[in-house]
Amino acid sequence: MPTLSDRVYTFTDSVIRRMTRISNAHGAINLSQGFPDFDPPMEITEALAKAAKEGPHQYSITFGAKNFRDALAKKQSKAVGREINPDTEIVVTCGGTEAMMCAMMTICNPGDKVMVFSPFYENYGADAILSGAEPIYIPLVPPEYDFDLALIEEGFLQGAKAIIVCNPSNPCGKVFSREELMAIGDLAIKYDAFVVTDEVYEHIVYAPYEHTCMASLPGMYEHTITCNSLSKTYSITGWRLGYVIGPEAVIEHAKKVHDFLTVGAAAPLQEAATVGLQFSQDYYDGLLATYTEKRDYFIKGLDEIGLKHNVPQGTYFVMVDIQDFLDLPQFEGWTDLEFCEWMIKNIGVAAVPGSSFFKEDVNHLIRFHFAREKETIDEALRRLAKLQELLQS
Ligand code: GLN
Repeated sequence: MPTLSDRVYTFTDSVIRRMTRISNAHGAINLSQGFPDFDPPMEITEALAKAAKEGPHQYSITFGAKNFRDALAKKQSKAVGREINPDTEIVVTCGGTEAMMCAMMTICNPGDKVMVFSPFYENYGADAILSGAEPIYIPLVPPEYDFDLALIEEGFLQGAKAIIVCNPSNPCGKVFSREELMAIGDLAIKYDAFVVTDEVYEHIVYAPYEHTCMASLPGMYEHTITCNSLSKTYSITGWRLGYVIGPEAVIEHAKKVHDFLTVGAAAPLQEAATVGLQFSQDYYDGLLATYTEKRDYFIKGLDEIGLKHNVPQGTYFVMVDIQDFLDLPQFEGWTDLEFCEWMIKNIGVAAVPGSSFFKEDVNHLIRFHFAREKETIDEALRRLAKLQELLQS
């Protein structure tokens, strides 16, 4: 066989998405890859039915349908505290995944250094490899997932061109405070670098925490490339609708990268999702109330079982500590991946091994999500309760 590119041997498939396949193969309850099992708002599915009948069915403008971008600009201008120009400051992408890749390919030359917090959403590793960037990892230290600003300054001194900030943070649920973001932003300005943000969980931030857009901070619009998606906000992860917002001088080039990667996001889906972008604040309050209830319910269940976990400030993920199990003779020497595979087959619940998120050698944390109907969470907790017996035996 002719040889392939060297780069394809430098990363594995996504462990998150692999866990979904293993979970499906064994009929487990899938709390690994984070996506809801409930429907999107009816207004959106009705708009989709209408689009199916009436169109559009052909390409939209490559960087996003005009009405979609207009609605998006209106919604996000509020978050960013500045008028976003829908024609020059937005690229609509196929999901947040393409948004991140598009941002990275737009700013990175091969060999450029980019700072990434660890734990990180696993895509960033592949994004760096595919865009030729070399990651510098900045630890987010449990249990508070704090970071050392001096390490970020050191990264910039080593010439880092950008830092990726996932806020709220997948998988650890950290919500960066305004002060933390300002401190990072000040360094980005000082060293004339970019902050690439991934804000797909912007509307899943639990009180008393609040979401701050990096791009809204003084002087930061010109230094921020905001990546986002409609997946989590409107429960439409399969629609693959995302976007990049940034200064015109960046977006002008991001549009080209996006165009030659994918031409454009699905036109009928943009048409239907435009309805969602026009929802009033009530919708977002309702979404947050739903997730707050699910979070509290799920972690109460974990507490009752005696599983140790963090309390996420945002996102719908919880990290559970499995060290007590790994200390049992039957799991001696096991990896977290082996434990997760065992759990799918023997307990009937899927999680993601934490090692796929950490640069450091971390083997004792696994990630669950709780974007599930209450009955599904109940059944998952019933199954997980079997783990307790292992500790007691
Ligand atoms: N963000 C979700 C997760 O971390 C899934 C995203 C995806 O698989 N594209 O599980």
